[in-house]
Amino acid sequence: MSRIEALTERLGEIPINTSEKVVLGKSRDSFWYSPILKEKLKDVSAEAIVSPYSEEELLQVLAACWALDIPVTARGGGTGNYAQAMPLAGGVVLDMRRMNAIKSIGDGVLVVEPGAVMSRIEAETRERSGQELRMHPSTRESATIGGFIAGGSGGVGSIRWGMLREPGNILRLRLATLEEEPRLIDLTGDEIAIVHHSYGVNGIITEVELPLAPAQDWVELMVAFDDWMSAARAGWALAHHEGLWLKQLAAIQAPAPHGYFARHRKFLREGDNLLCILAAPNAVRPLLELLRKDGGRVAFRSDTASDEDKKGLPPLYHLTWNHTTLQALKVDPEVTYLQVGTPPEDPMAAVAEIAQRFPDEIVGHVEFVRSAGRLYASLLPLYRYSSEARLREVVGALEAMGCGCYNPHVYTYEEGNRCGADPARLDLKRRADPKGLLNPGKMIGWEDPDYAYDPAGGYEYPGLRKAAP
Ligand SMILES: Cc1cc2nc3c(=O)[nH]c(=O)nc-3n(C[C@H](O)[C@H](O)[C@H](O)COP(=O)(O)OP(=O)(O)OC[C@H]3O[C@@H](n4cnc5c(N)ncnc54)[C@H](O)[C@@H]3O)c2cc1C
Repeated sequence: MSRIEALTERLGEIPINTSEKVVLGKSRDSFWYSPILKEKLKDVSAEAIVSPYSEEELLQVLAACWALDIPVTARGGGTGNYAQAMPLAGGVVLDMRRMNAIKSIGDGVLVVEPGAVMSRIEAETRERSGQELRMHPSTRESATIGGFIAGGSGGVGSIRWGMLREPGNILRLRLATLEEEPRLIDLTGDEIAIVHHSYGVNGIITEVELPLAPAQDWVELMVAFDDWMSAARAGWALAHHEGLWLKQLAAIQAPAPHGYFARHRKFLREGDNLLCILAAPNAVRPLLELLRKDGGRVAFRSDTASDEDKKGLPPLYHLTWNHTTLQALKVDPEVTYLQVGTPPEDPMAAVAEIAQRFPDEIVGHVEFVRSAGRLYASLLPLYRYSSEARLREVVGALEAMGCGCYNPHVYTYEEGNRCGADPARLDLKRRADPKGLLNPGKMIGWEDPDYAYDPAGGYEYPGLRKAAP
């Protein structure tokens, strides 16, 4: 009997799917945004998909996988970018989307199961309490709240509330361990940060407590500028005005807006450099007055556009964050992206230098965010890919300029986050997953606890298992 047959026997009524097509489909996420990962991981596959409905069922699955030594990789919406939800060692993909109950909506506090899709959560919190999540990724319609916490970092809302990791943005997590007798543990305070953005390697999130914010009828604004640095500088200046209640602020360089934003193209001119803004209704007039002084032209505003004009438009945040890359990929499959932190003292100097040094390879994209009391210009530029060697060269040049490049073309936590083995994450993993069965291959520190970050990269997980040819 194979280990999956043995697992099926132990799971009783809990759904397990071994159809090759389904398994292969659910073994992938948005890893293909990276041409390097696309090639490297195209054959990765689990052996089965298991879909628990409740904590009780989940604990039963985890106990069975412990007994049979089966690797377990959690999956929410599968929108993560760095192969975070891909089962490198095979085994089981845990489809968390059936664990999606909204347990309570209080005054400023939400308790929810991890598999709830974020747009559904917000529809309910808005309707029942006039509140919304503080932030969401631009994949709000398909991403789950558990996947956002385990894989994401911030997004629409981070201009006001900071990044997801900041104290107060996640209030409590409940985690299931993978042991002989799996346990449920509640984490608050510092321990939350050890689970957040850990790709599910140190426990399966089963319940989440999050803060809520007062909901607004967000106004979508596109403000166009003739040159890139005018747009970027106007965005940077705007971001500093705390009195303007913004939910989203991004600057995107020409030719991307007219070239790639197909359904908004009718509002744009060739050569437009764009600020994409979500603003509270009471912020619209003052912010437009400021941007007009900076030379901006209002290309679109949702509060005055006709129904005819708005027909068929995606939400404006579908042009921002990594959706900018998605819009570009629809038109030009040679495009990928980089993730670049700019020096906080003078980010606009870095933005200008990048535009000047890499005019044929990089198209600028700045997300303005707050973090720990400071404002940052965080870059998600489009990058015209030619080879891995050239990409390394460009990243090296950006780092020499004082920028920090978070590599979206690798699958390990350490290489992606430019860090060595993290003792706190490792310690929790040793306690919650002593056999190392949770999402194997994503944490170099598990294989090599002394791992020091090597910018040259090149780590290959030795246990990589591919689908049978
Ligand atoms: C077009 C596009 C735009 C994006 N925009 C943003 C953005 O604005 N901000 C941002 O932060 N990210 C963004 N992302 C990345 C991704 O969409 C988000 O991080 C999203 O929140 C992931 O949610 P998911 O449910 O799809 O997670 P998945 O991709 O399914 O999983 C992500 C990680 O979480 C783990 N995981 C899932 N559920 C659990 C659980 N219950 N317990 C433990 N681990 C779990 C998985 O194993 C995996 O490691 C974007 C991606 C794309 C393709």
